[in-house]
Amino acid sequence: MEPLAWVDEELAQLERADLLRRLPPPLREAGAVVELDGRRILNFASNDYLGLASDKRLARAAIRATEEQGLGRAASPLICGRSEVHDALEQQLVQFQRTEAALLFPTSFAANAGVIPALVDRGDAIYGDEKNHASIIDGCRLARAERHVFPHRDTGALEALLRDSKKYRRRLIVTDSLFSMDGDLAPLPQLAELAQRYDAMLMVDEAHAIGVFGENGRGVIEYFSETDPLLESRVPIRIGTLAKALGSAGGFVCGSASLIQWLANRARTYVFSTAQPAALSAAAAVALDLVASQPERRRLLLEKARVLRQRLQELDWDTGDSASQIIPLRTGTPAGTMRLSQMLRERGIWAPGIRPPSVPEHESRIRLGLTSAHTDEMLDFLVSSLQEVRGSVGL
Ligand SMILES: *Cc1c(COP(=O)(O)O)cnc(C)c1O
Repeated sequence: MEPLAWVDEELAQLERADLLRRLPPPLREAGAVVELDGRRILNFASNDYLGLASDKRLARAAIRATEEQGLGRAASPLICGRSEVHDALEQQLVQFQRTEAALLFPTSFAANAGVIPALVDRGDAIYGDEKNHASIIDGCRLARAERHVFPHRDTGALEALLRDSKKYRRRLIVTDSLFSMDGDLAPLPQLAELAQRYDAMLMVDEAHAIGVFGENGRGVIEYFSETDPLLESRVPIRIGTLAKALGSAGGFVCGSASLIQWLANRARTYVFSTAQPAALSAAAAVALDLVASQPERRRLLLEKARVLRQRLQELDWDTGDSASQIIPLRTGTPAGTMRLSQMLRERGIWAPGIRPPSVPEHESRIRLGLTSAHTDEMLDFLVSSLQEVRGSVGL
């Protein structure tokens, strides 16, 4: 018996269920228009929300840092991998998020996988939204704490779980701020209230919201703090990524100086992983400057998203509770979803179909990610193309 024969059987089973994923063709860059299969195509698949991923200013900063410092860091930040460029970016993140300290991780997947087990252990409890990002879920699995999952954004159900939480040594509530597959917002003011009432730590992952939400682009915490000024002080653990709106790569955690020191001691994905190339931090630093100096990018993006959502809803598309630049179109079955995605692609639009296990059974969808580089003409073309193809999948 071939020891890996089971892999082919599993793959065949995925294919029969319309759940097999294939790598798309390689792309040169990640902009609003990309070259795919030899032709130009509109890209609604990326998280390049501010159009910075292929910005030449970021590229030049990365090249300069690489020429000055070399590429590889050759060790964990704790050993000798941390450069002045990383240090400067951490200081910039501190200013940006208005916390005492910040810590860079290789990715924000790694941040979640390292931070959660550093916060809770045996005898503790975690309370997580059922739609949390996979990296949060994996962080929870790595922690030896008891895991409780509450229905999406259901603070009543969370409170029912918390009523029985005094028996644990420590409690951690963890959530995305902007959910990646639904584009809706976590009820952060209510979560902060519950965290306070039940003496729980609150950890919020702003990966999709950094650079997009809030007056200064700090995220959904800042957005809600316009009506709930205490909120900023009530979220002691914040995760973000440099890889989405900031157009680079890497993850970060912001919080108190003692929290950051603890994580540098105990987060295994920090301690035992090589520091990211300084080039990535240098590029992210430029992106943060642009977030500060060009607020119109995020305002325009959210306004375009609002208008597009409204148009789609008027045409009877089900966009769920989306309140952001991520707009799902509920389509139902994996087969119908993939057919719709394929037909859009033939028309020159790349809008990925999302299937289980990324979303629950029966919640397959097209996921549209808008960027500030999408023009009104591109959005018009998207809407008219969607109208053309919907009939053939019975929508
Ligand atoms: C994308 C995402 C991550 C992973 O970010 P990377 O920096 O690409 O690893 C983590 N959390 C959430 C909520 C995300 O959407």
